[in-house]
Amino acid sequence: MIMIPWKNKLSVRGPLISLISLILVAGFLTTNIVSYQISKQSLRTALIDNELPLTSNNIYSEIQRDLLQPIFVASLMANDTFVKEWLRDGEKNPEKIIRYLDQIHKKYGLFTSFLISDKTRNYYHFSDVTQVVSEDDPKDIWYFRVRTMKMPYEINVDFNAEQGNALTIFINHQIDDRNGKFLGITGVGLEFNTVANVVDRYEENFGRHVYFIDATGEILVRSGGTTITEGNIYSATGLSKIADAILTDEQGFFELERDGETILLNTRYIPELGWWVAVEQNEADALSAIRQGLITNTLIGLAVIAVTILIVTYTVNLFYARLEVMATTDELTGIASRQVFDLSLQQALKFRQRDGMPFSVILLDIDHFKRINDTLGHLEGDRVLQEIARVMGKIMRDSDILCRWGGEEFIVLARDCALDNAITIAEKAREVIETVALLTLPDGSRITVSAGVTEVRDNDDVDAVIRRADTALYQAKREGRNCVRKAA
Ligand code: GH3
Ligand code: MG
Ligand code: MG
Repeated sequence: MIMIPWKNKLSVRGPLISLISLILVAGFLTTNIVSYQISKQSLRTALIDNELPLTSNNIYSEIQRDLLQPIFVASLMANDTFVKEWLRDGEKNPEKIIRYLDQIHKKYGLFTSFLISDKTRNYYHFSDVTQVVSEDDPKDIWYFRVRTMKMPYEINVDFNAEQGNALTIFINHQIDDRNGKFLGITGVGLEFNTVANVVDRYEENFGRHVYFIDATGEILVRSGGTTITEGNIYSATGLSKIADAILTDEQGFFELERDGETILLNTRYIPELGWWVAVEQNEADALSAIRQGLITNTLIGLAVIAVTILIVTYTVNLFYARLEVMATTDELTGIASRQVFDLSLQQALKFRQRDGMPFSVILLDIDHFKRINDTLGHLEGDRVLQEIARVMGKIMRDSDILCRWGGEEFIVLARDCALDNAITIAEKAREVIETVALLTLPDGSRITVSAGVTEVRDNDDVDAVIRRADTALYQAKREGRNCVRKAA
């Protein structure tokens, strides 16, 4: 029956909960993103400053270590008296040297072992005599280079013409006789792939791709999974722009884009081979763990926020509902409070201006209520107030608003109700209260009420309406009580 027109005016719940949600979500997302950025930055720094350089350094040291024994073996062969004497004695019984080479080859698990006599230019191989080196053959240029070298040996990476053109690291060692006369070159070869096996380990364990680049930019050995498909860094996507820089620095760090991915690249020069080892790390792969962490954190955080908001919403609604009841309901009688009436009247005045529908106000006061209190006590007085509120509630129409005005006064806002009609309602209330035996006073008299009625007029404000109803009520009291009077 009671409509509360100002309910929405009080409602700050929506904005309040939105604001709390916004603060929680914004605060949470900000800290989450900031901490993600910090972890990302420190991971990047660790990759750039430590891990990638360490990988290339490790590969370099492993290659160096792998080369130590072959260098030692080549030197052993070059200084072997058997080899020197056999050459000096005119290379008789070639099977002897072939057997010797084969023993070296087997004992040290090498890919190849060879000897070239400077006198005959015969190339002895661990399995046979295969050819004669010649100054005219571009393939044999190396021999004439090593022959005049100051250093006793060199490391040379070349394709092995004798063994399926496999990429081979040759250790070429000069052989001199006792007097320092050049007798030839002996040495061993390692299949590059066995040395480069190390790269696959880095690929497997760290998801880092490794490849080697020679001085012309040619990409020679690459680990599985590398996304470079081109043969030369000068024509490779992302790399062509930095190719010159790669080949001038001993150690370099680069960041490049390939297929929409950011790649961190570390390069290191390997002087023994004259090559650069390149270690690539896909940034997104490296960050995937912390990105996963970010997603998990975000989901958990949002779930916690959602639960928090639910609890806050529930609590706020609960308190709001209580507050609403407290603000709009009279505690004793359970009917609407004076505030409700004030606002309802204001609103009704506005409606009337718009639609011109008549409405009236009935102000009702219990007669000699002080006497009831005095003779029966305050509690009984309260009960009378409750009973009268209940009886009036039954008489009122659904569209009427019944409120406790104060003390023992009630007020009714009768909608769509002209003066005559309002007087009828007031009269009915008066009659019912008089006839319903609510309480009988000790002197046998009945509880009665007096009422003042007024219809709302043009240009009325709240005060004017109340004042007229009050005057009419005062008149009813003056004229003997238990009656209804309309305002003049
Ligand atoms: P009349 O209106 O006929 O002139 O006489 P009255 O005795 O009713 O007059 P008055 O308005 O002076 O007295 C109202 C009394 O109502 C005074 C006050 O103690 C009592 N009263 C006000 N509020 C309450 C309440 O909530 N409970 C009870 N028990 N009494 C209340
Ligand atoms: Mg009174
Ligand atoms: Mg009274």
